Amino acid sequence: MTPAPTVATDAPALQADVVIIGGGPAGSTAAALLARAGHQVVVLEKDAHPRFHIGESLLPMNMPILEELGVLDQVRAIGVHKAGADFPLPGEAKSHVFRFNRTLTPGPDAAVHVRRDQFDQLLFEHARACGADMHACTRVVHVAFGADGRPERVDAIKADGSTLALRPRYLIDASGRDTVVAAQRRLKRKNPTHQSAALFSHFRGVARQPGIDAGNITIARFEHGWFWLIPLPDDVMSVGAVCLPEYLRQRSADGGRIDNETLLMRTLEANPAVRARMQGAERIAPVHATGNYSYAATRMAGPGWILIGDAYAFVDPIFSSGVFLAMDSARQAAALVDASLRTPAREARLQRAMQARLDRGLRHFTWFIYRFNTPVMQRLFSAPRNDLQLEQAVISMLAGDVFDNAAVRWRLYVFRMIYALNAIAIAPQALRGWRTRRRQARVAFRGDTLHGGNP
Ligand SMILES: Cc1cc2nc3c(=O)[nH]c(=O)nc-3n(C[C@H](O)[C@H](O)[C@H](O)COP(=O)(O)OP(=O)(O)OC[C@H]3O[C@@H](n4cnc5c(N)ncnc54)[C@H](O)[C@@H]3O)c2cc1C
Repeated sequence: MTPAPTVATDAPALQADVVIIGGGPAGSTAAALLARAGHQVVVLEKDAHPRFHIGESLLPMNMPILEELGVLDQVRAIGVHKAGADFPLPGEAKSHVFRFNRTLTPGPDAAVHVRRDQFDQLLFEHARACGADMHACTRVVHVAFGADGRPERVDAIKADGSTLALRPRYLIDASGRDTVVAAQRRLKRKNPTHQSAALFSHFRGVARQPGIDAGNITIARFEHGWFWLIPLPDDVMSVGAVCLPEYLRQRSADGGRIDNETLLMRTLEANPAVRARMQGAERIAPVHATGNYSYAATRMAGPGWILIGDAYAFVDPIFSSGVFLAMDSARQAAALVDASLRTPAREARLQRAMQARLDRGLRHFTWFIYRFNTPVMQRLFSAPRNDLQLEQAVISMLAGDVFDNAAVRWRLYVFRMIYALNAIAIAPQALRGWRTRRRQARVAFRGDTLHGGNP
C-alpha cells in the first residue's frame, strides 16, 4: 500500500470561512452551529460514516447540547436510557450507585448510551442538513501556517486520490486522537505518569442491573485497572478492560504471546461481579485495543485556529466525559469563531477565556481520575457520607457539570480536603498504594504491548 502523502499538494486553494478537520462529535457539532450562524463551513473527514468508534456512554450535560443542535429526540431513539453509574464495591455483592437525579442543582437527570457508528453519522448528516459542506473519505495531510501564525492553506486527499486545497479564514481542528495540528506543530505532550490501555468488544447476553438501573454504566475496579459495562440497544453490552502497562507486559513474560481476545476474556474473569454478569455471554464483534492515550496540547488556540475535543486533550475514559467535552468545546468554539470572524479584535481575549474555562473543568475531572483506584478513594466510596451535599457535588461532576457551577466547584475543593485528611488517617496504606500505582503506570509501553490500532 502506498503511504498517504503528508505534505502540501499543488491544487489551487478555494476560500472558506471555516475549515474543520474531522467529522466526529466535536467537528460535526461545530459545523452545524457555525453553518446555522450563516458561515460557509467545510468539514474534511478521513473516514466514511458509519464507522466504528469507541466512546459510547454520554453524560447528562450532553443532553442540552443535543437539544440545542435539534437532534435530542433522534439520539434518544438510537440510545439506551442512562439513569446513573454504578461502582461495585471490591469484595462485596453490592454497588455504590450514583443516580443523576441527585445532582446538586436541578439539571438533566439522565443521559444515553449510543453506538458511535450511528451517533456520529447522525451528527454528520445533521451538520450537512444545517448547511455545512461535509466531505467524507477526505484526509487532511498538511496545514500551512503563515509567518503571522495564521493557517493559510489546508491540503487534503480524497479516497480516489484527487486533492482538495482550502484557504480558511478560520481553522478548527477536531481530528480527535490524530491531533493533526498539535502533532504537526509539536504541541502534543503525552502524560508519562498516566499510561494505560484498553481492550474492548461488544457482547450479547450480558446480565443488566435490575429495575431503573438497567441502563447504568458499571465501572468495576480490579487489581490492575478497571472495567466498563455499557448497555447498548438490542441486548448488546460494550465491555472493556482498562489496564495498567505493567499488567499488559506480563502477557509475554510466561513464554508465549497471548492475543487480545484471550487477554480480554482472562482479565474479565478477575472481577467476580463482572464474571457473574457475563456468564453465558457471546462476543459478537472483534476485540479492539487502544493504548497510551493520555495527552494534552501545550496550547489550545492561536490566530485563526483552535483545537477542540480530543484534538486538544484527552485524559482518561473512566468518567465517560470524552464526547461531552468534545461537544461542549465545539459549542464554545463555534461561538468564539463566530464572534472572531465578525469582530477580529475580540479573538485573543475569547481564546484565553475559553482555554481557562476548559482547563479548570479538566482539572476537576483529572483530580478524581488520578485518584480513582487509590485506597483512600475506595475508603471514601465504601463509607459514603453526605456532609455539605458533597455527594451531590460529586454526582454533578459525574454528570459533567464542572465548568460553570460555582456551588459544585467549591464542594469539590472541600472533597479534596476530606480526601487529604483520609490519606493522613491511613497514611501507610495510602503511601503503599501510591507507590504501587506509580510503579505500575511508569512501565513504558513497548511497540508490541498491544496488538491493533486506536479506534
Ligand atoms: C478506551 C476508551 C473508552 C472511551 N469511552 C468513552 C465513553 O464511554 N464516553 C465518552 O464520552 N467518551 C469515551 N471515550 C472518549 C471518546 O472516544 C472521545 O473523547 C470522543 O470521541 C472525542 O470526540 P472528537 O470529535 O474530539 O474526536 P473523534 O470522535 O475521534 O473524531 C475525530 C474525527 O476526525 C477524523 N480525522 C482524524 N484525522 C483526520 C485527518 N487527518 N483528516 C480528516 N479527518 C480526520 C477521524 O476519522 C474522526 O472521525 C473513550 C476513549 C477511549 C480511548
